[in-house]
Amino acid sequence: MSTDAVEQVVADEATSPESIATAAPTPVLQLQDFCVDYGVGARAVRAVDRVNLRVDRSKVLGVAGESGSGKSTLVYGFTRLLRAPAVISGGSALFTAGPSREDSGEELIDLVGADEATLRRLRWTQISVVLQSALNALNPVVRVGTLFDAVYRAHRSDMSRAERRARSVELLSLVGLNEDRLQRFPHELSGGQRQRIMIALALALDPSLVIMDEPTTALDVVTQREILNKLAELRARFGFAMIFITHDLSLLVELADEIVVMYAGRLVERARARDLYESPRHPYTLGLLNSFPPMHGARHELTGIPGSPPDLSQLPSGCAFQPRCPYAMDRCAREQPPLAPLDEAGRYVACWLHVAGEHATVPVELRRAAPSSRDGGSGA
Ligand code: ATP
Ligand code: SF4
Repeated sequence: MSTDAVEQVVADEATSPESIATAAPTPVLQLQDFCVDYGVGARAVRAVDRVNLRVDRSKVLGVAGESGSGKSTLVYGFTRLLRAPAVISGGSALFTAGPSREDSGEELIDLVGADEATLRRLRWTQISVVLQSALNALNPVVRVGTLFDAVYRAHRSDMSRAERRARSVELLSLVGLNEDRLQRFPHELSGGQRQRIMIALALALDPSLVIMDEPTTALDVVTQREILNKLAELRARFGFAMIFITHDLSLLVELADEIVVMYAGRLVERARARDLYESPRHPYTLGLLNSFPPMHGARHELTGIPGSPPDLSQLPSGCAFQPRCPYAMDRCAREQPPLAPLDEAGRYVACWLHVAGEHATVPVELRRAAPSSRDGGSGA
């Protein structure tokens, strides 16, 4: 199969009209060939390159990759939060608006072409984003209670002042904070408390998709663990879908259903969370896993990944990971590997080692049995 043909299979799998109509569970978001450039014309660099993915209702998609791999550009791109010089240069981002498939008000909206009024209608109520730094995201001169009140006044004019306050107290309690925090300014709260406030705000209007951009990066490991547990609990209770961005793959294994790994703006591996964590297929995924101490299980030596991510304006020919890859072959410097289906468990990999189909040539560390084939596990 040619590279173009394989890319087409992936694109069709992600977003064909048939899959929208019949697949179960319901997709809340589907990206097809989604591209974002910084700049235009000859000097433009492509920061997100033909990304195809789907997020099902109530599921968690983890997005992993080093700094600069394009994770934030991807999510701020399809949520239309990016400003110039960023430009969406191709593809679509189909969002299913509405609380459930049975709801008569459900509509399929391409976020790429949506006008500002539509985007304003969707933000907070259908899609909410928790930014990397809660301290920067929260207005320092506005008390927490005023922030909650402002969200409800803007979107729920039917609520009385008493109802807005009652709901704010309820939200704080959901994230494990006492109502006295409503009187505080952001700088009077710890990092973990501020991040909990951001999560509560993101859930205020019951969105169907919540995006978390490295929400725990600035926190100590104990607080990080508390926040992740809280997120898992809230998701199980309210059923929202979540996209969780991190450079630390080990954070995703418990939280995510599926994980995609990005490198130089492209998806290089996509798999069920446990499959990817326990039996990575792409050399970059393996390198990422060897860069962080595991949150559970046996400890292993941290080896990291030699070199650094490429300058997008001077990408190497062929596979972008080739200059750093210990398994690189001649072909890798000549041709870019497509993201191609690998197995029936829904794994996709962009690496010539696997696309070549020569099982014996795949290094043993990249062909360990996946958990599903060992124990019948579901992957997440
Ligand atoms: P981080 O974890 O550090 O946020 P990331 O994986 O989210 O990294 P992005 O912030 O999306 O990566 O950046 C993707 C690429 O886009 C990087 O190579 C970055 O240098 C480039 N980039 C980001 N903003 C701009 C800009 N305003 N102009 C040009 N290039 C940019
Ligand atoms: Fe390494 Fe080649 Fe696979 Fe790229 S295609 S990850 S260089 S083996």
